[in-house]
Amino acid sequence: MNITEHMETFGHEQLSVFVDKNVGLKAYVAIHDTTLGPALGGIRIWPHETEQQAIEDVLRLARAMTYKSSAAGLYLGGGKALIVADPRTDKTEALFRAFGRFLDTLGGRCIATEDVGMTVADLLHVAQETKHVTGIPVSHGGSGDPSIMTGLGVYQGMRACAKEVLGVDSLRGVIVAVQGYGKVASHLVPHLKKDGARIIATDLFPEARARAAADGLEVLNDPEAIYDIQCDVFAPCALGGVLNGETVPRLQSRIVCGSANNQLLDINAAKALKERGILYAPDYVVNAGGVINISFEIGRPYEEAAAREKTLAIYNTMRSVIATAKDRDITTAEAADRLAEERIEQMRRIRRMHTGA
Ligand code: NAD
Repeated sequence: MNITEHMETFGHEQLSVFVDKNVGLKAYVAIHDTTLGPALGGIRIWPHETEQQAIEDVLRLARAMTYKSSAAGLYLGGGKALIVADPRTDKTEALFRAFGRFLDTLGGRCIATEDVGMTVADLLHVAQETKHVTGIPVSHGGSGDPSIMTGLGVYQGMRACAKEVLGVDSLRGVIVAVQGYGKVASHLVPHLKKDGARIIATDLFPEARARAAADGLEVLNDPEAIYDIQCDVFAPCALGGVLNGETVPRLQSRIVCGSANNQLLDINAAKALKERGILYAPDYVVNAGGVINISFEIGRPYEEAAAREKTLAIYNTMRSVIATAKDRDITTAEAADRLAEERIEQMRRIRRMHTGA
């Protein structure tokens, strides 16, 4: 990959590299687009083997954040941080504080939060050195665990899909197959139960499967079998790339709606879902509850009721994505991209009007 060419093609603004050999820090911060506001994104810790992989990852993740915040109607741009390290062995306070000092040099152009490999305790070390950190605990003046609102938002997206496919926006009697029983799934499931859905869950880890069983769910011990289950909704709540040429033909559901980021391996997967008549809820539309929640912590005292109200509006956003997809005969993934891109373009037009540029 030619980095500058890639950044030009996909519209990235900035890529910063931070190194501090005294503490073993090697980190990248990518800022994709700040038209709508400062870039917001998680700090991921992952031991990428090559620099190429690390840069591709951080650029791709930053761009996805731009689309997520724009589609959610937030005044935030897209960014991401990546610390190249093994989260099981390499994490130290000194490493996080060094990263925090570097992040601070960006002057708030990128605001960071948690992502894969990071805990709240790690984030608090970063917050010692910079105020450009969000998603910190309520006890520290933050908005707390984002997965609660993420779960609520996915539920709202699922209701909007059910309205389209089943004619009712309740999940009563609907069979939902949940892939991955982690933080978000655990907060999604109570909403589904309350509606009266039947839930089948699986996870790679036996402990998580045991938790699902203890929560009264039907559990699949073979995680691979989730793709073949007869159900109404397949809810990917684990990792990305799970919708691909191998899995889409196996799905027995009428809806795909879950929290996992980057569910589609590529646009062909979205086209294959459309061809099979399966309604796909674009991941970044329905999993925006967490970033919405965080947005209510930035620059003001956290307001839970307002964050909740905006998360509930994911229902309307999903309905409008479905309507656009039908009107234009495009996939819901393309309709969501258009929604996000149009909002950014509109802001650029307003800026041009004001600056005369
Ligand atoms: P988590 O780590 O708490 O849970 C993920 C679970 O998926 C784990 O229990 C893991 O064992 C399981 N898993 C991994 N691969 C699997 C597979 N192939 N089959 C079955 N189970 C598998 O993570 P989380 O915070 O619940 O996030 C879940 C997804 O939602 C991620 O893709 C994340 O990026 C996305 N997301 C999370 C939030 C949030 O607020 N936490 C917000 C937006 C998007």
